[in-house]
Amino acid sequence: MSAYNWITAFATCPHCGTEHEIVIQTHMSSSYGGDERGLFFDRCYALGEKMRWWSKSHPKFAEWIVSHAVPKEPDSFLECCYGKCSGCKQEIDSVVQFSDVTPVLVKDIGVLDEWPSDFP
Ligand SMILES: [Zn+2]
Repeated sequence: MSAYNWITAFATCPHCGTEHEIVIQTHMSSSYGGDERGLFFDRCYALGEKMRWWSKSHPKFAEWIVSHAVPKEPDSFLECCYGKCSGCKQEIDSVVQFSDVTPVLVKDIGVLDEWPSDFP
């Protein structure tokens, strides 16, 4: 099983229709490896918070981008992730935009049976 991290964001839940903290599971910047500060998995990040990863000069730097991420624009990638509403506990999907090892934006959020067709 591949490593993952967590992103939390406030958004209007597509299931209960109210604003709640959405907990999102991401595989970006996720590895069972790490550095002297610790391993790069099971960490929790807010939007705009740079994720822990190897430095740009490290041979594994480019691996912060998972293979199922969709290039959006130069240095920007979209990942469709599983998430859960902290209010109603409904599982949802969310499209998160990443740039420079950082989750920057929740672009879309939906109910799981409507997984966006342009994402793996
Ligand atoms: Zn909800």
